[in-house]
This record gives sequence, C-alpha cells and structure tokens, in this order.
Amino acid sequence: MARVRLENITKRYGEETAVDDISLEVEDGEFVTFVGPSGCGKSTTMETVAGLTQPTEGRVYIGDDDVTGLAPKDRGVAMVFQNIALFPHMDVYENISFGLRLRKYDDEEVRRRVEQAADIVQLEGMLDRMPAEMSGGQQQRVGIARAIVRNPDVFLMDEPLANLDAKLRVHMRTELQRLHRELDATVVYVTHDQAEAMTMSNRIAVLNNGKLQQIAPPLVCYNEPTNLFVAGFIGSPSMNFVEGTLIEDGLETNNFTVDLDSTRVPGVTVGDDVTMGVRPEDVHLSRFEETVGSSTAPIRAQTDVLEPMGDEVFIYILLSESVDGSMKQDPATSPNQLLMSVTPDTAIEANEEIEIILDRSKIHLFETATGDALVHGITDLSEREPGTTPTEADS
Ligand code: ADP
Repeated sequence: MARVRLENITKRYGEETAVDDISLEVEDGEFVTFVGPSGCGKSTTMETVAGLTQPTEGRVYIGDDDVTGLAPKDRGVAMVFQNIALFPHMDVYENISFGLRLRKYDDEEVRRRVEQAADIVQLEGMLDRMPAEMSGGQQQRVGIARAIVRNPDVFLMDEPLANLDAKLRVHMRTELQRLHRELDATVVYVTHDQAEAMTMSNRIAVLNNGKLQQIAPPLVCYNEPTNLFVAGFIGSPSMNFVEGTLIEDGLETNNFTVDLDSTRVPGVTVGDDVTMGVRPEDVHLSRFEETVGSSTAPIRAQTDVLEPMGDEVFIYILLSESVDGSMKQDPATSPNQLLMSVTPDTAIEANEEIEIILDRSKIHLFETATGDALVHGITDLSEREPGTTPTEADS
C-alpha cells in the first residue's frame, strides 16, 4: 500500500474551476473520504488521483512517485465505481479475473488471487454464477473483488454504494470497513452522504465549491467544524444557526439574548456580528437543567411540529416573537425556529409553551461575514477571570 499526496491541485473547465488549489495527504493504510454536495469537485479530485483527468495545475504523488503524467494503468490504483459494469456474459470468476488474464498472469496465479479476493468479499461458492443471478450487493462485491485481485497500492472508490437500497448500503459500509482493516489498504472514497463518510473513514475531507474546507477525523469535523459550511453539512439533522451581535455578556439576536461571556471568545469585540451554531441535541428543556453542566438562562419558546423517530423525537420550536405568530418565516431558514431533539419518554406536545436552555459547552460561534469558526464551547460565566465585569449570573 502507499500514501497519496495532492499538491495544489486545480482543475478548470473553461471558465469554471471544478477543483480549486487542493493540497492534502492520505497516509499509507488510511481511509480518507471526500465528501460534499453534488458538484463540489469530489469526483474530479479523485479522477486526478486515478489519472482519468489531468489537473490544470498541481502534482499528484503516489508513494514517493510523481504520477501526474502517468496513465491510469501505470499508477498502481484500482477503482470501484457506482456503476459496477460487470460483463453480463461472463460468470463471477471470469469477471473478477478479467484484468489479470488480460495482463497474461498464469492460470494458477489467477486462480489463487481470485479465490483469495472472493474469500475476502465473501463470494466463495458463487464464482460460477452469472451477474444476472446476483443481488445488487453481491454484484458490488464482485466489483470490489475485481479491484482486490489487482493488488493495488491504492483503492479509489467513487460512490460505490449509491445504487444500493438503504439497508444494503448500511451493511456494505461495515463490509468496507472490514475490508479496509483486513487488507490494511489505502482507500480514497467519494460520497455525498455525510453519514457514510462519518462511519467509515479515518479522516474526512469536506469539499465545497472546489475548495477543501476541512480534513480531519469525523468527530473533529463534527465537534470542531472549521466553518459554517462544515458545521451545516456534517451531522443530521443539521446544526441550528442564529445570527446575532455580541454584547458584553451575551449574544443578542432578533428574538432573544443568549447569556454567554463574550470576553471568552477569541478574536472578537463587542458589536461584532457572529452566528451561533447549536446542534439539536444540545438544546434542552429548562426543566432538565440539572443534566446540563453549564446552561444558558432559559429562553421562552413554543413547540410547533413534533417528529417522533423512535429513539428520539425532533421538535421544531418557535422563539419569542414568533410565538404569537407575528414573525412567521420559512422554517428552513427562519432565525426564529430551532430544531431540538428529546428522548421519546419526554412529556411534550405540539403548541406547548416551553422554556429552553442551551448547553454552553456545545455552543459554536462563527464570524458571520466569513463563516470562519471563532470558538467551540464557551466557558462558564462563573469561571470569569478577575477584572472583567461581573453580571447577575456570577452571584
Ligand atoms: P462532484 O463529484 O462533487 O459531484 P464533480 O467533480 O463531478 O463534482 O464536478 C465538479 C464541477 O466540475 C461541476 O460543476 C461539474 O459540472 C464540473 N465538471 C466536471 N466534469 C466536467 C467536464 N468533463 N466538463 C466540464 N465541466 C465538468
């Protein structure tokens, strides 16, 4: 196996920049996923590694070799795509071994490699089946086995599970993780599905508009997103965002004030416009205050729609002015609406007056103008350093 290094990769199609100056390194044996919305440049970046696309600028290294000008077949990579494209008139053995036979490997070596690969993807006993006799998941495993027999330095996978139904996709996620572990393989994986990226990868590379936003382990992207885009893209349902202005002891929004110690936020001054981000699971009912280490003062709200999911309930809540219906806005973008999640045993109904609190240690602040993260989690007001203005909350 080998590491992969991208150095200032840019790809332009005419006026359009599909990939914008991306540099990153995938370690030997690492599973790295490119994730982002459709059109963000994931596949194009991957194609520059595969050699299917030449970058306009930048270099690609596999192992210690600069492979930028090399043909795909000379790069030591094997690809698995969304569309597996098996030969319908060939059985599984012939499909898996096709590339090896083309390269004139001797029969014994071909058989050894095919049987080993079939064993890894659990297709033993199916080698004489025709593709038409197999399920989508089994066909996808043939595609993966076809990549394994080539004994590549790097596996490149572009949405390999996208055509499978939801249940099979979840199953194949665990299979791919097992495969990665067993082969100690370097894997570069492309998906638009943040859940797929979160569950399988050592690190995820979040892309938007052709630019690398963050590359980090999944939980780092989740807990410490580098900007508003990553914060909103990683995690489902999405993080709530509320725009406001910093005041001395809080964040003032259109509808409510969040009491937090703005002196604890690096790089800002009172009067700055910031966006608060808080995940649904970090919004709590004030009656459960004791379960939250450091909470904000209660904020008045009203429940709107409830979505029971079985293991949790999502609740859309309307805040202050919107409670009397005077500020109805598009729920998807309204700053007057937040999504919270509660356990299913919580006694709560639609159109109920409630008070919410936010877990201060889980509040993210972003610079509104740039979207850049300022701070993740804000220290308790009571831990205020001497010399700063005391507030009611300190007494
Ligand atoms: P993703 O894989 O994230 O969906 P792509 O890498 O496929 O995104 O595409 C990135 C951008 O580059 C898109 O705007 C797409 O339209 C453009 N693009 C990709 N391939 C070509 C091409 N062959 N010719 C022109 N534009 C392309």
